[in-house]
This record gives sequence, C-alpha cells and structure tokens, in this order.
Amino acid sequence: MDFTKAIEFLKTKNGFLLSTHKNPDGDGIGSILAIAGILDNLGKEYTIISHDPTPKKLSFLARTEEIRSCASSAVENKSFDVAVIIDSPNLERIGCAARFLSSDVKILNIDHHVSNQRYGYRNLIVPEASSSAQVVGGIYEKMGIKPDPASAQALYVGLCVDTGRFRFNNTTPEVFRFAALLLECGAVPDKIADWLYFLMNRETLEGLSKILSSVRIYKNGKVAFAQLDHDFLNSDAGRKMDTEGFVNYPLSIEGVEAAFLLREEEKGKTRVSLRSKTEFDVNKLAGMFGGGGHPRASGCTIEEELENARIKLLEAMEFLP
Ligand code: 5GP
Ligand code: MN
Repeated sequence: MDFTKAIEFLKTKNGFLLSTHKNPDGDGIGSILAIAGILDNLGKEYTIISHDPTPKKLSFLARTEEIRSCASSAVENKSFDVAVIIDSPNLERIGCAARFLSSDVKILNIDHHVSNQRYGYRNLIVPEASSSAQVVGGIYEKMGIKPDPASAQALYVGLCVDTGRFRFNNTTPEVFRFAALLLECGAVPDKIADWLYFLMNRETLEGLSKILSSVRIYKNGKVAFAQLDHDFLNSDAGRKMDTEGFVNYPLSIEGVEAAFLLREEEKGKTRVSLRSKTEFDVNKLAGMFGGGGHPRASGCTIEEELENARIKLLEAMEFLP
C-alpha cells in the first residue's frame, strides 16, 4: 500500500527536490541517485540538493556532479512544492536543504530507520529493510522496471555500506537476491569495493593512526572510545581525512560491546559515532543526546569538548540496561 502511494506520487508529480541527511553516506547518496534514475525513466524534472558535499569516495558514482549545495547559484531562490527525502529520520537532518521546501510542500519520505518521524505527505518507511537502497529497489520492482547501470551501481553502494559489506545481522536472503539483481543490471562489485574500502588519501591513513592510538577502554573492557581532537580536525590533514567506518576498529576489540568515535569538529562541539555488536542499544543512547539511528549504529552531536563528551556518554550509559 505504501509502495503504491509512493509510486503514484512519483508518477503524478513533477519538479521534485531530492535530498538526504547531513554528512550523507553511501546509502543516502546511492538511494537519491537511484530515485533520480526512476525520475529520468519517467521523464520528470528534479533537482538534488545536499547540506554537505558528497564524500570524495562516492564521487565515482555517475550523476554526483548533479548534486547541488545550498549555496549553488543553480538553486538560488528556488522553492519546491514536491520533494523526495531519503534516509533521513526527521526533517532537521536534511539541514539547509529544508530552506527550499515551499510552505505547502508535499514530501515523499523514504527510509528504513525505526526512529523515522513520518513527516511526509506520503511515508514509505520499511524498518525491516537493510538500507534505504533496498526500499528504493522495492520501488523499481513494483514499478516493473530494472535499474539502469548507473542506478544499479548506486543502489549496490547503499546496500553494501548499510550492511557493513554484507556482514551485519541485517544481511538477509533478500539482500543477496537484491545484490544479485544489481549485478545483472550492471553494478561492478570489485570496483565498488576498491573505491569504498581500499583507496584512501594519505591524510585519512594519518587520521586512522591517530584514532587507533587514542583508543581507551572502560566498563570492564566492554566499552571502547576513540577520538580525533579539534586541532587535528582543523588542520590541513584533518580537513582532508574521511573517518567513515573507522569506529569499527575500536569495536573490533575482543570483549568490547559498544564503541564510540568522538570528533570535536568545532570547539566545544563533538560529533559521536556509536556502534554496538550486542543487544546494547546505541540508538537509545544517541537519543539521549538528540541523535538517533539504529540499535547497532547511530550518531549524535554533544555540545561539549572531547573529554566532557566522553564523561557525559559514560554517565548516560548508567541509565540504560
Ligand atoms: P554515523 O556514525 O555513520 O554518522 O551514523 C550512523 C547512523 O546513525 C546512520 O544511520 C545515521 O543516519 C544515524 N545518525 C547519525 N547521526 C545522527 C543524528 O545526529 N541524528 C539522527 N537521528 N541519526 C543520526
Ligand atoms: Mn541508511
């Protein structure tokens, strides 16, 4: 039913704004590009606007050059009556892209986050799906169309990233069936794996070494913290590095159940990536700081410098089972 309404929305409207969450990941970007593929197929007009630039490691995907920043002259003074927002549990998460929504905008909200706030005129929320990419794959299937090679490539990126390279417990038989379909449609898994995981600039490697040497263990070995301080993040190298996935290093320590990567991006403002490999629910913990995500992977921002952010997280953990 939700799928039928979502498809009707795409078919009957035109002039869409497409957007995803701040700090977009492979699932957000990949899913947007694949929706763009559907709209191309339908002969529709759309504009993609993102709060943050596309991470460099995703720039190999076709059409990423069409993604505009809020400051782009191409979108100046634009206002949209219809929008498709993907992989974003609430509207605040799309940041400055929200400025381009008209006051009576109709939004198609596509997501797989349990915490999604159903802010759309149409809401296609599938918490059982591994990724927003898988939900978009469902739209293709129900429309009876096959992804073009560029969209297949983009969807495979979303699937790969949100299943942790087909490793998390959301890696279901459907995920592999969908991956197989994407390969048939032109996704190239070896190239994607190289781009996503085996190519990094020197600065990223330098940042990784800082993260690894900062690891500290708490709570009888069950909790690991790693961090990047403001001085590094503000340096040339820090600005060029990409931390995506690095929280998994502290998480990989034997006996560790939850890991946190803290980045003091602005003075007194710390971004936190939270991961769990047990029943410990990091979505709840992130929620205590106004963030969210999934039980095993979530994020939040704490308005504190590094050390205080760590203390606050440790204190907050006392309130959780
Ligand atoms: P990451 O640690 O990779 O930035 O984020 C992990 C997961 O948590 C992603 O699914 C992301 O969408 C979600 N997430 C990250 N930061 C926030 C936040 O500030 N608010 C909410 N609601 N979700 C977040
Ligand atoms: Mn996602």
